[in-house]
Amino acid sequence: MGKRFSFALGATDGQARTGVISTPRGDIRTPAFMPVGTAATVKAMLPESVAATGADILLGNTYHLMLRPTAERIDRLGGLHHFMNWDKPILTDSGGFQVMSLGALRKLDKDGVTFKSHIDGSRHRLTPERSMEIQRLLGSDIVMCFDECPALPADRDRIAASMRLSMDWAARSRAAFGDRPGHALFGIQQGGLDPELRAESAAALRAIGFEGYAIGGLAVGEGQEAMFDVLDFAPGQLPEDKPRYLMGVGKPDDIVGAVKRGVDMMDCVLPSRSGRTGQGWTRRGQVNLRNARHADDPRPLDEACGCPACTGYSRAYLHHVIRSQEMIGGMLLTWHNLHYFQQIMAEMRAAIAEGTFATWESGFHALRAAGDIEPV
Ligand SMILES: [Zn+2]
Repeated sequence: MGKRFSFALGATDGQARTGVISTPRGDIRTPAFMPVGTAATVKAMLPESVAATGADILLGNTYHLMLRPTAERIDRLGGLHHFMNWDKPILTDSGGFQVMSLGALRKLDKDGVTFKSHIDGSRHRLTPERSMEIQRLLGSDIVMCFDECPALPADRDRIAASMRLSMDWAARSRAAFGDRPGHALFGIQQGGLDPELRAESAAALRAIGFEGYAIGGLAVGEGQEAMFDVLDFAPGQLPEDKPRYLMGVGKPDDIVGAVKRGVDMMDCVLPSRSGRTGQGWTRRGQVNLRNARHADDPRPLDEACGCPACTGYSRAYLHHVIRSQEMIGGMLLTWHNLHYFQQIMAEMRAAIAEGTFATWESGFHALRAAGDIEPV
């Protein structure tokens, strides 16, 4: 310990960047993909298996953990890293996004939000100060500001008012976070799809000063084209020498497009969630292992993949265990998907370092366009 949080930007290729975030709990190679460990577990995976896929950091959800088993209990039990047996860095969200998604179960005011638990209906309150306290009790290495994110589409006045409230909460989050060497607080840019509101938000965050900056309010149903339009200008509004984190993204082609536009970190439940429903993501796109075409197929899901699902099992076996609802089906496909997402990140880091990102990107799209291998 004693090491401070820092970011060293390495090579760039166009807008794409590679670098290293250093923390007392280890380095995070960027661009980085963070698997989501909602309830102190990346579902269907042991922590050492998550690390074996190449993940340097994972994400925990404040909303879920504050309700069950509670931040105070996790603190008494030695913090989230010890509790879930993961000693690498952890980023926690602020709880804001999930509370806002509760709809009729929550009530927003200018100080915070009051809501009812989806588990037992009990009443809770989140404010910037309480969110900072919870994330400190969890022992999170990268803490996110408490913010509000309106669902899109929303009119410009609504988005502007929401963004200004979030900037007020960002200042309160910074004050409540305090002086915690080795830990980082990230601000979150809002402003919907509007370049001027995004610029105003970025200026407000820069005036407060953060160890990293997230691009919030995207991947909420606006579509890939609109998201890329925002990513064509939003990363450039944020400090060049700090990590940039795109929250809640995404599918492999979303991730590649975001990295191309200057994003350093991303997270998404997609690889783990879709693994549990029999969906495999490969170099050749999405494969539904539930489909009968795989029932007699002795070949691996992807013959070029080094994960346990592809080196030890056939498509026929994966099809069988998924259709039979055996737990190993979700375990193997989650492992494969996380491995594939980390493989993309590793290949992009190498391509950016070598100045060959454009060539790598055309190869990525060409293989996906070719589609899955022909049935046996
Ligand atoms: Zn695999």
